[in-house]
Amino acid sequence: MKYRTLLLFGAPGAGKGTQGKILGTIPNFFHCACGDVFRSLKTDSKIGEVFLEYSSRGELVPDEPTIDLWRYFIDGSTKTGRFHPQQDTLVLDGIPRNVRQAEMLQDTLEVVAMFYLRCTQVDHLVERLQRRALKENRLDDANIDVIRNRLKTYDRESKPVLAFYGKNLLHRINADQTPAKVLVDILRHLTKA
Ligand code: ADP
Repeated sequence: MKYRTLLLFGAPGAGKGTQGKILGTIPNFFHCACGDVFRSLKTDSKIGEVFLEYSSRGELVPDEPTIDLWRYFIDGSTKTGRFHPQQDTLVLDGIPRNVRQAEMLQDTLEVVAMFYLRCTQVDHLVERLQRRALKENRLDDANIDVIRNRLKTYDRESKPVLAFYGKNLLHRINADQTPAKVLVDILRHLTKA
């Protein structure tokens, strides 16, 4: 079966994680942030090392290990009873992050909506990431050159994912607003159907 899925999409720092965490507390929604899955890995494991190598440069981890790890995480969450594919809607944040990943997941996901959290001011993104670096001890947020590279990677590799899923699934959300207002905008779409 395909997983019924909502995608949270947007630049690093746009607030996908904040919204995903809140949505994941609603019954029958299961939030999965790909970056969190990577950060939960032991740094001395093979894939943990690969993650550190790429993320510390502001680049994407190669697609095969990323999708393998993601599948392993979802299978584990299903087996341990945290995710119930029959009832739950998957809220994905940070994956798929390029068109190839979207293609690799095409047989697995039934994407019902994509929320594009648009932040018009790059300065805001950079500020949010720098604040998060202190709070969450994230190496990739700590260095301004790495942040710039992540924003470039997003423009070059991730943005084409918007066109992959097309206009019918796309909901643009103004991510310059407060988290509460962003949430209201997302929920308004979700409760329409
Ligand atoms: P942000 O959204 O702020 O960039 P994430 O926590 O989503 O932060 O991702 C942190 C890093 O983890 C990325 O810069 C990348 O190196 C790696 N990563 C996360 N998700 C993916 C993915 N789907 N494909 C490849 N790399 C990923």
